[in-house]
Amino acid sequence: MSSSVALRLPSIDGLLRHPACAPLLERHGRESLLASLRQLLDELRSSVLNGQLSAVEISPDVLAGRVAERLAQQQRSNVRRVFNLTGTVLHTNLGRALLPDEAIDAVQMAARYPLNLEFDLASGKRGDRDDLIEGLIRELTGAEAVTVVNNNAAAVLLTLNSLGARKEGIISRGELIEIGGAFRIPDIMARAGVRLHEVGTTNRTNARDYEAAISPRSGLIMRVHASNYSIEGFTARVPTAELAELAHRHGLPLLEDLGSGSLLDLTRWGLPAEPTVRQALLDGADIVTFSGDKLLGGPQAGLIVGRKDLIAKIKKNPLKRALRVDKLTLAALEAVLGLYRDPDRLAERLPSLRLLTRPQADIFAQACRLQPAMAEVLGEPWQVSAVQALGMIGSGSQPVARLPSAALCLRPQVSKRLRGRFLLNLEAALRALPIPVLGRIDDDALWLDLRQLDDEPTWLAQLPQLQVES
Ligand SMILES: *Cc1c(COP(=O)(O)O)cnc(C)c1O
Repeated sequence: MSSSVALRLPSIDGLLRHPACAPLLERHGRESLLASLRQLLDELRSSVLNGQLSAVEISPDVLAGRVAERLAQQQRSNVRRVFNLTGTVLHTNLGRALLPDEAIDAVQMAARYPLNLEFDLASGKRGDRDDLIEGLIRELTGAEAVTVVNNNAAAVLLTLNSLGARKEGIISRGELIEIGGAFRIPDIMARAGVRLHEVGTTNRTNARDYEAAISPRSGLIMRVHASNYSIEGFTARVPTAELAELAHRHGLPLLEDLGSGSLLDLTRWGLPAEPTVRQALLDGADIVTFSGDKLLGGPQAGLIVGRKDLIAKIKKNPLKRALRVDKLTLAALEAVLGLYRDPDRLAERLPSLRLLTRPQADIFAQACRLQPAMAEVLGEPWQVSAVQALGMIGSGSQPVARLPSAALCLRPQVSKRLRGRFLLNLEAALRALPIPVLGRIDDDALWLDLRQLDDEPTWLAQLPQLQVES
């Protein structure tokens, strides 16, 4: 005990001059290195006094190693790549759509150089940033006019505030939804200054219900895509065309929040039908709003398309300035929209569509290929099997539709009492890999849905580093 108390920590100066610290000095700079050394020595000082340390543990070499670890940890960015093997393709918490190379190149260009963001190169006069993508969106949707904001929640807020402030917004009770992340239609309406006038019932709303609600106080009729839930059974919903006709007879605009919204009919790729923006406009919706990073497969953005006079009004709202998109988003969006001009090759070039349409047989073959490596790394207590699985699109598109997929199913071969802990430990170990691997726990097993594993070599290369606590 008394000999431990006599242990002395090396001095800061001594450590700074130690050869093991030279590369750290070069890499992180003097200030960071000093701060880390001081912090480590402070922490050790009390342990030394308690006699809890040995001379080996406080040798300069060991201390330099520990400081190196700390500095590396600090330098690692908080924004990190992960493997999304959850089975949900457009996963909101994991960044939704992945951009195609064309969009990544465009973002790089926009980040690196000055650009004509609000400058009309033809006339040499000030321009409008919406003009950069207006032509393409009009072509792809048939809309008269377009404006773009930060996300679809902003698109809904801005549209409601611009067209319905201090008036009543008529909406079916079946469409008063919550999207998640505290986006609730009644709350957004209130914040937009629109008085909610709900009509019908949760499962059934008829044209008569809307008609009876119309009064001189009415400002608009709104329709919201139910997105993340579905009503089945005894239901009734007024078709958009009929609702538009009714709205126009009373001089009201019809807004349709499509949520995901698709520019093309997805059934051509064997995916579940999702309403298209063009069809909503053809049916008579005056304004349609939708996300850039859901089924569209682009950057986070909210697109507002529709009647020219209404879009002009929306663009004049001072909130537009607060909700506008940046140059990187516009660059990416233009590139993604450009790919839609060639629908025949879209599924090869747009990553989200390529992943959504990957054949189950392909994914299953991949699962069979990877099964031995996974089984070997996990060893004895785990049963690893390649199985068929069901994934989903995500982001509120087709909440009940399932995508036939395949997965590695990792099942602990231990008593029922221990299974939960084994699964949580494995989940944590997968998250601790250099590129964290995210799966899902279900039915006493951990599932790694491989639909989105297109970088197999990188995934395999880091597998031996998996360390599961037991
Ligand atoms: C997803 C969604 C939103 C919100 O869109 P963000 O782009 O996430 O802001 C709004 N309305 C509906 C119907 C949605 O599905």
